[in-house]
Amino acid sequence: MYTVKETWSPEETFAFGKEMGEAAVPGGIYCLNGDLGTGKTVFAQGFAAGLGIHENVNSPTFTIMQVYKSGRIPLYHFDVYRICDPDEMDEIGYEEYFFGDGVCLVEWAEQLPELFPADVWTIQISKDPEKGFDYRKIEVSQEQETE
Ligand code: ADP
Ligand code: MG
Repeated sequence: MYTVKETWSPEETFAFGKEMGEAAVPGGIYCLNGDLGTGKTVFAQGFAAGLGIHENVNSPTFTIMQVYKSGRIPLYHFDVYRICDPDEMDEIGYEEYFFGDGVCLVEWAEQLPELFPADVWTIQISKDPEKGFDYRKIEVSQEQETE
């Protein structure tokens, strides 16, 4: 499937992330791509809220992964911006999270394409200067149907 959502404020991106978080089921992997400052973390914050997580959610750039367990399903929030080698993901035991009972949100997933199964959700956020400073296009795609 492929859908496009356009937003004109961080609140709208948050709300869209929240809708997707409300619909998320265990085992889901969401790859979040887009340049620095496009709104991956804003989307992740909304997504967390949709899972019923009310803690502060920030980019785990230095810790690579942050776990939130206060929602209806565990959320594993990754930021792999600094990871150049998939071996570093092995070291943090990523498979346990990717193929576990929670939901994974991975900022900068495009850096590690070889790591992901085929049926992930891909969320690509982009700007369009012609449409204004706060405009974002959020493209959502998934290759296979989930049951
Ligand atoms: P990333 O994680 O992709 O680096 P952030 O989510 O940390 O980006 O930051 C996005 C920035 O863009 C925030 O300062 C946010 O307020 C701003 N912003 C402006 N318009 C939007 C929008 N439509 N959607 C998301 N963020 C927006
Ligand atoms: Mg971020």
